[in-house]
Amino acid sequence: MNLRCADCGQEFPAATRQWRCDCGGVFEISERPRLDRDKIDAKVSTLWRYRAMFPTIKTEHIVSLGEGGTPLVPARAYGVEFLAKLEFLAPTGSFKDRGTTVLVSFLKELGVTEVVEDSSGNSAASLAAYCARAQIQCRIFVPAHASPAKLKQIRAYGAELIPVEGPRENAALAVQQAAQSSYYASHVYSPLILEGTKTIAYELWEQLDGRAPDAMLFPTGHGTLLLGAYYGFRDLLEAGLIAEMPALHAVQAEACAPLYKIYKENLSELPDIPQGETIAEGIRIRRPVRWKAIIRAIRETGGSVVIVSESEILSAQRELAHQGLYVEPTSAVAVAGLQRPLPEMGDELRKQLIVIPLTGSGLKVPS
Ligand SMILES: *Cc1c(COP(=O)(O)O)cnc(C)c1O
Ligand SMILES: [Zn+2]
Repeated sequence: MNLRCADCGQEFPAATRQWRCDCGGVFEISERPRLDRDKIDAKVSTLWRYRAMFPTIKTEHIVSLGEGGTPLVPARAYGVEFLAKLEFLAPTGSFKDRGTTVLVSFLKELGVTEVVEDSSGNSAASLAAYCARAQIQCRIFVPAHASPAKLKQIRAYGAELIPVEGPRENAALAVQQAAQSSYYASHVYSPLILEGTKTIAYELWEQLDGRAPDAMLFPTGHGTLLLGAYYGFRDLLEAGLIAEMPALHAVQAEACAPLYKIYKENLSELPDIPQGETIAEGIRIRRPVRWKAIIRAIRETGGSVVIVSESEILSAQRELAHQGLYVEPTSAVAVAGLQRPLPEMGDELRKQLIVIPLTGSGLKVPS
């Protein structure tokens, strides 16, 4: 397996300590493993049942906390029926564990003993947990104003927290400095993360008895779940296991919606938007580094990018809670988005099989 720059095509060995290309481009995996249904290990209930479709990792290097295999339950909002995929039941309370288990297992395989990361939320909590399990030393650079509840979870796993004053970008700069002598285990930059998140598509195909949903809505920041799903469904399509790709819709908070701007205005550069305030802290992302791939996946599948307001997010969160589904505001964003494609799709939407991943637990951000 090699890594390849998505911009200039230059290849790097998988063991490289570089986290992006010399040209600034992000890495992809040069030849992604193909999906072979006969290689799914039905005896394993975690996402490691798809291990044959991951980069090669020795059994003793697998770092697992029982992730994947999340339930799919019926729900409704705004008069629309959908299936909720309960990603918040993951070991650390968010879907991030799908990517982390593959990345940290891969790092074990490489013999990495310490990592750095610069998230203040669910991806750092997930990384801290899996590093604790793997006995890899973990240092997290966090903006000084990060959410205290999530910081507690990160610290509880034994990760070292390094507060960085100033805007979020300062934490990113600090980690890039630290990455020169450590391994930058980034949810955003590492393409191994997408090899983990692709399993949501494989799982849905199994849970839906061999079909894909018609549409999916994602709360989208860096788009790692949306892109993973895209890869997974593409694998299923190429293996002849589904007839069509589901339409992949990205939902963003109005206050911080760079993908919406790119989509609506057909931009060919990443716009410089202000860092708006939103309760959807998990998708408060000004510069999604894989934006080109996200927009391509959305256009190719007939999806869209829509935005929702703060009050719509809160009301969607309430709507879910009243059905017994307690999620963090970021997760409710996707459900709030159901109101948006409605006018465009009209009655069509009511006939569709819609799946919405509920990405993070409400216990993380008690209001
Ligand atoms: C990280 C996160 C998201 C957004 O995922 P991206 O891969 O950045 O698009 C959505 N919901 C929750 C709960 C998250 O933690
Ligand atoms: Zn490059």
